Amino acid sequence: MKLRGLRFCFLCFLCACAGDAFSLDREAFTFTSYDLNVRIEPAQQRLGARGKITLRNDSTTPQKIAVLQISSSLDWRSIKAGGKQLQFVSQPYTSDIDHTGVLSEAIVTLPEAVLPKATVDLEIAYEGVIVLDATRLAAIGAPDSAAQSTDWDQISAKFTAVRGAGFVAWYPVATEAGSLAEGNSAFDSVGRWKAREAASTMHLKVAVPSDDEAEKPELLVNATACPSAHEVQHEFLADCTYRSLGQVVPTFLIADYELVDRNAVQVHFLHGHDRSAAIYADAAEKAVPLVSEWFGAPRNKAETADLADPNAPPFESGSLLLMPLTGTDPKLAGLAAAHQLTHASFFSPRPWINEGLAHFAQALYVEHLSGRQAALDYIGLHRSALSAVEKDKESQTTAPRSEDEVARSLVNTSDEELYRSKAMCVWWMLRDMVGEPALKKALASYHADEDNEPSYMQRLIQAQTKHDLEWFFDDWVYRDRGLPEFKIESAYTRKTLPGAYVLTITVSNQGAAGAEVPLTVKFAGGEVTERLVVRGKSNGVIRVETIKPPQEIVVNDGSVPESGTNHVFKIEGEAAK
Ligand SMILES: [Zn+2]
Repeated sequence: MKLRGLRFCFLCFLCACAGDAFSLDREAFTFTSYDLNVRIEPAQQRLGARGKITLRNDSTTPQKIAVLQISSSLDWRSIKAGGKQLQFVSQPYTSDIDHTGVLSEAIVTLPEAVLPKATVDLEIAYEGVIVLDATRLAAIGAPDSAAQSTDWDQISAKFTAVRGAGFVAWYPVATEAGSLAEGNSAFDSVGRWKAREAASTMHLKVAVPSDDEAEKPELLVNATACPSAHEVQHEFLADCTYRSLGQVVPTFLIADYELVDRNAVQVHFLHGHDRSAAIYADAAEKAVPLVSEWFGAPRNKAETADLADPNAPPFESGSLLLMPLTGTDPKLAGLAAAHQLTHASFFSPRPWINEGLAHFAQALYVEHLSGRQAALDYIGLHRSALSAVEKDKESQTTAPRSEDEVARSLVNTSDEELYRSKAMCVWWMLRDMVGEPALKKALASYHADEDNEPSYMQRLIQAQTKHDLEWFFDDWVYRDRGLPEFKIESAYTRKTLPGAYVLTITVSNQGAAGAEVPLTVKFAGGEVTERLVVRGKSNGVIRVETIKPPQEIVVNDGSVPESGTNHVFKIEGEAAK
């Protein structure tokens, strides 16, 4: 009996081994460096690339197989190591991380197994076309025109704009399939890839033929350093370096751009868009003082480039912003510029800080122009997206699992709704809690290269304030405890002296995340606002003095994102009369 059991287990073990040997670990390797020569022929919509990539085995087991993926409209020509051709099988791999919905995947047999943490250099060549392709969006039912405006990437004689991983795999990647039809799976797949590639470098040489004497297109690349392209023997050449990819998606554009060049911003616009470009540049210049006051002087010029499709949604990467320059509303232009200028002034490798602050800057900009209520209304637009995410989450799992709390936390998440909208709310709440001077000082003391621990930002803010912020960061940043849900449980008024009333208010929070929430008590001819900390799943009590009988209490002016909607409490009875 005992022997049989043992043999059974032994067989199990064997099976498990065999299974491992035949399954591919597509995310075993990180591509730590790219050195690519890319030739782009707009008239043929073609791209050809050759160069060298370095792969590091970040898994815990030796790897004999490497997976390299490019867009399905490109084909593998050769893969070598040490000058010798390697055997590889090329196959289509269905994945929505590319606009075509499919990747050309090369499964490469390496000369020898690569040990954990060891690297291998591969020499690669691939080529093909990059044409407008909205297959992945059409597959999930997006109308044709909307799908094509959203996935606007293409190489073409008139206008070329191509974004990298997540849009067009024009350089090799290695990811598990992501599907837009399955919740966040495509975003998660791209998010994991970006996280693995954050410290990777890319050296990119781009060549574009310039046979046409009349038309001299401009070549733009969103690299860390990219001296402007120069012309050598009928070719435009650009030699660009990405020092570390971070959250940047390598992107290139070729178009007949005209330029508005200002102190803080360069605007590359298409023929006929002069007015819109000037409005954008003016609005950006006006937003510079506010942004500098909060985030420091710009370290580089913010660059904006026009998109040919007027319905294309904007795309940003680093301090490069791509958007159709057709708008003439200076407020909207300033709103976009405030975000972009923040990136030019302040950098963090952590998305909740980097993007959260850029969105926070937009709310500050609205407040600066039109006051606090307008800013709260603006935040409200983001908040509704956030509530939708929360509802989604609730419908997926009945009880929150603790690993989800960690994975979906602001410090770990790859969900844009969280590291943009939720993070913006967190920064707004922090400002309300610790005050503007303290928060500005904390931000001024931030150094991206010293940000080695998730708690670094908390310590910088803590150094400027007496507030205890541990619970706040725990509920909002280190873990995802969802949103608070406030309700005024009771309010009792007592007349203490002639013309003096004390109101005792109990506020409950049904949600698991605590917050410091504003409470406004209204009375005939005036109001008083106090702030009250109500931790998750508990009550808070506060006493508020008024000079007239209190009539109404409002909890939360919209500055704290929450799932509840029950905010007003009418006071009736003796004291109120
Ligand atoms: Zn941004």
